[in-house]
Amino acid sequence: KNLTRDFEVRTSRLPARTTLLRAVDHVSLHVDQGQTLGLVGESGCGKSTLGQMVVGLVPPTRGDVCLQGRPLWDSGSYEEPHVRRKIQMIFQDPSSSLNPRMRVKKIIGEGLDIHRMGSRAQRTARVAALMEMTGILPEHGNRYAHEFSGGQRQRISLARALSLDPQLIVCDEPVSALDVSIQAQILNLLVDLQKNLGLTYIFISHDLAVVRKVSHRVAVMYLGRIVEIADGNDLYENPCHPYTRALLAAVPRPDPRRGVPKIALAGEIPSPLAPPSGCVFHPRCPRAMDICSRNIPGDMEVGPGHHVKCFLFKTV
Ligand code: SF4
Ligand code: MG
Repeated sequence: KNLTRDFEVRTSRLPARTTLLRAVDHVSLHVDQGQTLGLVGESGCGKSTLGQMVVGLVPPTRGDVCLQGRPLWDSGSYEEPHVRRKIQMIFQDPSSSLNPRMRVKKIIGEGLDIHRMGSRAQRTARVAALMEMTGILPEHGNRYAHEFSGGQRQRISLARALSLDPQLIVCDEPVSALDVSIQAQILNLLVDLQKNLGLTYIFISHDLAVVRKVSHRVAVMYLGRIVEIADGNDLYENPCHPYTRALLAAVPRPDPRRGVPKIALAGEIPSPLAPPSGCVFHPRCPRAMDICSRNIPGDMEVGPGHHVKCFLFKTV
C-alpha cells in the first residue's frame, strides 16, 4: 500500500551534495492467495526494490506491506521468524546466492537447521522431499553448487526457498540468466509447485513473454510507478498504456495478424534523479499531448480490474 522508497544519492563530493532518488513511487498492488502477480518493466524501473521491500530486505520510506491485512513494516513483523519464513525470495543469479563451500543438501536444509524445524531425521527427510519436488537427483545432494548447470542451480534455490513452507515467493528475474529451453522447464516447475502447494508469487521480469506464461495478473512499471495493471490475458489482448503497447510490440508473437501494431520506443529511460514532470513517460510517448508534461495522470479503470494511468483514457 502506497509503497515508496527514496535513496539518498551523492551528486558531488566537494561541496558534498546529495539528492533523493525515488526508486518506487506510491505503489499499491495486491496479489490473491494462490495466484501470480507479474511485475514487468525495463531495468532500473524499481521492480527489484519493490520486491525487496515485500520480502523485508529494504524498508520503505513510506507505505507498508500487508500480509493477510496485517501491516508488516509498521508492526515490526519482519523481525519475527514465523513471518520471515512466510515470505521468501529467489534471485536471477543463483550462483551468487548459493554458498560455494556448502553441499547442496546442506544449502537446502540450512533454513530448517537455523529455525530448528523438527528432529535431525525429520530435517533429512524433508530435504530429500524438497529435492524430489524440485527435480534434483538424490545422489546429487553431496555436490557443490558450481557442479550444477544454471537451471539446476535455480532448482536448488527454489528448494531452499520452499524449505520453510512459505506462502509468498518473490521471484526476481528467476529465468533471465537461463537458455530459453531451460527457462520453460523452470517456469513449468514454478506453475506445478504453485498448484500443488497453493503458493503465491510475485514474478518480476523485464520479459513480457515470460511473465505471460506464469501470471494471473500483470502490472507494468515505469520509473517507479505502476502505469497499467490488468488480468494477464486482458493486458496482452487489450494493452492501453502507450508504454505497455511499446513493450508488447517488441515481443515476437505467434500470429502477427492479430495484436498490437509496432510502436518504436524512442529514447532512453530518463534518470530517476531528475524524473520528467507530469506523466513520467511523456518524453518517450508517441501519443503525448500538451497536458502530459504538466499534469500527472490519475488512475483510470478502463474495464473490470484493468487500470491505466494515462490521459488518453477515461474511467468507464
Ligand atoms: Fe503518453 Fe500522455 Fe498517456 Fe503519458 S499521459 S502515456 S504522455 S498520452
Ligand atoms: Mg532488477
